[in-house]
Amino acid sequence: MKNTLRQTYKHKRNSVSLFFWVWGGISLLCLLLIFVFSVSQRWTLENTLRQQAALDMTSRGQEIKRQIADGVPAEFADEEEYVKHLSLTYAVEISLLDGDGKVLCTSSSEMGTSIEYIDWIKGKLYDSAATDSNGRFAVYQTGKDFAYACILRAETDSDAGRYLYIVKDVSYMDSVAGEVGLRTLFSASFVFVLAFVVSAAISGMFTKPISEMQEKAKLLAKRDFTVDFRGEDYGREIVELADTLNFARDELSKTDKMQKELIANVSHDFKTPLTMIKAYASMIVEISGEDKAKREKHAGVIIDEADRLTALVEDLLDLSKLQSGITELNKEKFDLSEYVAATVENLEYLKEKHGYKIEMALDEGVLIEADKSKIGQVIYNLIGNAVNYTGEDKKVYVALKKGDRVARFTVRDTGEGIPEAEKGGIWDRYYRSNQSHKRPVQGTGLGLSIVRQVLERHGYRFGVDSAVGEGSTFYVDFPCEE
Ligand code: ADP
Repeated sequence: MKNTLRQTYKHKRNSVSLFFWVWGGISLLCLLLIFVFSVSQRWTLENTLRQQAALDMTSRGQEIKRQIADGVPAEFADEEEYVKHLSLTYAVEISLLDGDGKVLCTSSSEMGTSIEYIDWIKGKLYDSAATDSNGRFAVYQTGKDFAYACILRAETDSDAGRYLYIVKDVSYMDSVAGEVGLRTLFSASFVFVLAFVVSAAISGMFTKPISEMQEKAKLLAKRDFTVDFRGEDYGREIVELADTLNFARDELSKTDKMQKELIANVSHDFKTPLTMIKAYASMIVEISGEDKAKREKHAGVIIDEADRLTALVEDLLDLSKLQSGITELNKEKFDLSEYVAATVENLEYLKEKHGYKIEMALDEGVLIEADKSKIGQVIYNLIGNAVNYTGEDKKVYVALKKGDRVARFTVRDTGEGIPEAEKGGIWDRYYRSNQSHKRPVQGTGLGLSIVRQVLERHGYRFGVDSAVGEGSTFYVDFPCEE
């Protein structure tokens, strides 16, 4: 079955199942989210740490600058001792330099005299826009250190000036970021494994009802109309899909039933006239051959039955052409009032032969654009049915009333009417509520379904008003010109 389906419908050859698409998709999405989250977290952390270090350096630098500017307190032997004391207090390396790069005093063993170095510091200072109450200062990162620099005394022609240079090791920032990164990696791996498992469960949840429905649909394809598509335990879309499939099942089952009934009815309707034709033909051969009157009577029956067969075949052909959409509508403009009057005139024989009376009330000049011969079939079938099913008074009322851009055509009879439960069914092919009804107009059981097909193809509104014991009124609304 599976292979046959695949061979028939080549576009179904996608070998990756929906389960793996959903599973893979969700897992990949999680992986991507985790990656983006980790990178942005690391970036934010590094920035925050750097900003904090810069703020910290600024406040330490400004404090140290203020204290040095206040002069060396008496308890210290000289400025060198004082600088070392401040270095311990503030946990930074402090150096005082002159404008030529000479180290005046320092707490660091690594600080050496260098003209390039002081020029570099001056460059940083003049690049910086930061100032405090005592003038310009600069805070910046150099490798694994954070530095603060400011001018203690400006350079003049005679004085090389004084510069304060403070450095703090910030390599802890890298280890903090590394530590956090490691933890993130650990939790990300955990989240990914979790997402992998959860997405497998989710994709299972998505695909389970679809797989179930697919199995049932295969049964339906084998004409098992007992299958029941269920989706109430899943989302709204699945419930709707199940409803749609159940609807399709019911329609298929109806079509299947109707097809069987149609074959049975057609065979029956073909068989009856054929039997009659054979019987009467035999009678002509065996009995009435020489008797002219009898022979004509028997031949008349054969002709009538042959007409019945022809009508049936024509109706069946019309209907199947209409239903399959082969028939094109040949629309033309014509006067519906005249057309209805002419059709009723053609039924005059019913009055003469069977005493029926068709009363007409037709508004004049109803111009419509439609397929004339098909509309003729509609009018004929509706009036024919009314004649067949009208009451003892043998009266049928045909009317055409012109309204605003629409003319209502009605055919009313005084018959038994149609029970509410049967109103929907009468438009179906081969529906007959009253098989044994005596009919002056030949009926094939296809009349109303032809009416329905023609009117639906034209897009016209139509229907029936009827109540048991009160006759029936069939109506069609024809859009017409003003
Ligand atoms: P039929 O050849 O049996 O008349 P139709 O398709 O024309 O076939 O009609 C289908 C069924 O609808 C009829 O068998 C009858 O039961 C019902 N029907 C149609 N017209 C009328 C009517 N005017 N009054 C009562 N029943 C009607």
